[in-house]
Amino acid sequence: MKPPVLVYRGEALGAYGYAEKPWFLPDVRLQAFLRAAEARGLSERVRWIEAPPAADADILRFHPPAHLAMIRRRCAAEDGALDHGATPARASIERAATHVVGAVIDAIDRLLAGEHRRAFVPISGFHHAHRERVRSYCLYNDPAIALAYLRDRGVGPRLYVDTDVHFGDGVYEGFADDPDLVAIDIHESTNTLWPYSPAVPGVGAQAGDRHERGRGPGRGTKLNLPLVAGAGDRHFAGAWAEAERLLEGAKPAFIVVTVGIDALAGDPMAHLNLSPAALTGVVRRLCELADQHAEGRLLVLGGGGYRLESIARGWGGILEALVEASS
Ligand SMILES: [Zn+2]
Repeated sequence: MKPPVLVYRGEALGAYGYAEKPWFLPDVRLQAFLRAAEARGLSERVRWIEAPPAADADILRFHPPAHLAMIRRRCAAEDGALDHGATPARASIERAATHVVGAVIDAIDRLLAGEHRRAFVPISGFHHAHRERVRSYCLYNDPAIALAYLRDRGVGPRLYVDTDVHFGDGVYEGFADDPDLVAIDIHESTNTLWPYSPAVPGVGAQAGDRHERGRGPGRGTKLNLPLVAGAGDRHFAGAWAEAERLLEGAKPAFIVVTVGIDALAGDPMAHLNLSPAALTGVVRRLCELADQHAEGRLLVLGGGGYRLESIARGWGGILEALVEASS
C-alpha cells in the first residue's frame, strides 16, 4: 500500500536560493528539511518524488505568455533584476521555479487520482508573484497556479489558507473576484511588514487589511486577518477562531495551504512569535476538513522562513503532523 503522504525533493527544487544572500543560500533549506525528516524518523513513512519541471502551459494558467517570455529571456542572459532590485535574473532560479510549479502540478494530479491523500512541497509558496510582475524572489506564483489548475480541471469549491507571515498579495489579487475560491490569509500587518501599506506608488495597494473581502462575485469569499507585530499563539488562535466561521461553510473539494515558517518566534525578518504548535495545529485541522469534504486531498506548500532551526522545528513538525493525521 502506498503511504498517504507524498513529499517532493530534488536537486532542481533545492537550488532555489541566492549565493550572495547568506540567509537564502541554494540547497541549504531543502537539506535542512531532509535532515529534520530523517531525525524524526519520517523518511521511511512517506513517499519521496523528485520534482519534475512544469510544462509552459501550466505556468500560463496564471501568468501571461509575454511575462513568461520576459523572465526566460532575462534569466538566460542573467540580465539585472526582475523586480525593483531584490530578485536578480538567474538561469538557476528560473529552472528551480519551473520545478516548483512542476511539483505542485504533479502533486495535484496524484491527489486527484487517489494515489495519496496529502502532498508536501517544502520549497514552494512563492505567493508574491503577480500575474505580470515578479516580486521579492517570487518568479512564478505556484499557489496561484495550483488554484488555477484546480479550476481548469473543474475541481471546486477550493479552499486556500495562507499562514506565511507575509500577506499573499499575488494570490489575493489573482483571485479576489473568484466566487469558487475561499481564501483565508493570516499574516503580520502590512503596517510593520512587507508588502507595506499604504500602497507604494506604481506598485498598487496590497494591504491585506481586514476590510478586503474579495471583489465583485468573489466578495465575501476572502478573509484577511492581520496580526500586530509581537503577536503570539494566543492572538493567532483568536484569528483562527474567526477563520473557522468561513471554514464551516466552505465544504472544499480540495485544500491548498501555504504554511510559511517565518511567523515562528525568532525569525530575523518578521515580528511574530508563534510556536510550531500553532502551525501544526493548522495542518491537523485542515487534514480533518479535507477528510470530511475533500477525500483527504490537502496540498501543503512550505512558504517562507529561512532559519535552520525554524526549518527543523517548523517543516519537520508539519511533516510529522501530516503523517500522524493521515495514518
Ligand atoms: Zn513569508
